[in-house]
Amino acid sequence: MSPARRRRIVVLTGGVGGAKLVDGLYRLLPPDSLTAVVNTGDDFRHLGLAISPDIDTLLYTVSGRANRAQGWGREGETWEFMAALRSIGGPGWFQLGDGDLALHVARTHALAQGQSLSTVIAGFASAWGLAMRVLPMSDDPVATIVDTDEGSLAFQIYFVERRCAPAVRAIRFDGAVAARALPEALAAIAEADAIFIAPSNPWLSVDPLLALPGMRQALAQARVPVVAISPLVGGQAVKGPTAKLMGELGLTANNAAIAAHYAGLIDALIVHEGDDQPDGVTCHATNTLMPGERDRMRLAREALALAKTLTQ
Ligand code: GDP
Repeated sequence: MSPARRRRIVVLTGGVGGAKLVDGLYRLLPPDSLTAVVNTGDDFRHLGLAISPDIDTLLYTVSGRANRAQGWGREGETWEFMAALRSIGGPGWFQLGDGDLALHVARTHALAQGQSLSTVIAGFASAWGLAMRVLPMSDDPVATIVDTDEGSLAFQIYFVERRCAPAVRAIRFDGAVAARALPEALAAIAEADAIFIAPSNPWLSVDPLLALPGMRQALAQARVPVVAISPLVGGQAVKGPTAKLMGELGLTANNAAIAAHYAGLIDALIVHEGDDQPDGVTCHATNTLMPGERDRMRLAREALALAKTLTQ
């Protein structure tokens, strides 16, 4: 390896939690050395529009457009469309801000014209001047279905409309077996110098990626460090249903369960300081909370340093 060659970093990620780590890495790394492979199991059609929540969250976060206080959507968003929709009795359970809507309309139009999702997303990233690659995990549709005590629910119904209240019994990824992992994503994993599994929900945000043919094998066969960052802090999720879901699946919400979930795939786990450090995997404890830029960059720097020590 030439000493001047850039380290190629791949992150497997969902939306909110993962995007923060990707943001930290993006601010640290030279342009074009970072690739995010993003969950599309949350994607759905609403009012005829193709919506990709995790990809859009990542794009908003890394381009500085995310609404941090709210934890989702865009900063400075306006809501004329929703008000007009409600005034004619349209569905109000899924919030579509005016700026956000532009992405959904443009994506739906481009897909209808025959463009692939990965091409559409590359177009958005390039329009916003992002130098990193944002890859959907697949160009084929995959739908996360949550089997609950109230029956089988499409992911957004469970997550947004029912606010994760139903007890989860099992999670399925419709279409995953027939879907093709994005070839560029598999290639990026094969060529990476380090691979991170972001602090995203392992069951809802990372498992859809792992369900794609070839993805799990690509990770297991990687000869470079694979490092996961735990989404748990003090046995709780920072945001969202991770801990509740783990309990419903019969698991204890701790890092031992996260490590067991990624067994055979990861070489190291970054855990929040003071939390459990499971045996059988290298653990690095630090403050994993990433509210601001400096926290994101610090955690990204530590993750890169850990991967480097594992390479040597
Ligand atoms: P979603 O698809 O938008 O729900 O996004 P993710 O799955 O990527 O994010 C949800 C997960 O991110 C939850 O399990 C949170 O605990 C985790 N998370 C959010 N913010 C942070 C943070 O600052 N640090 C850590 N370690 N985890 C976080």
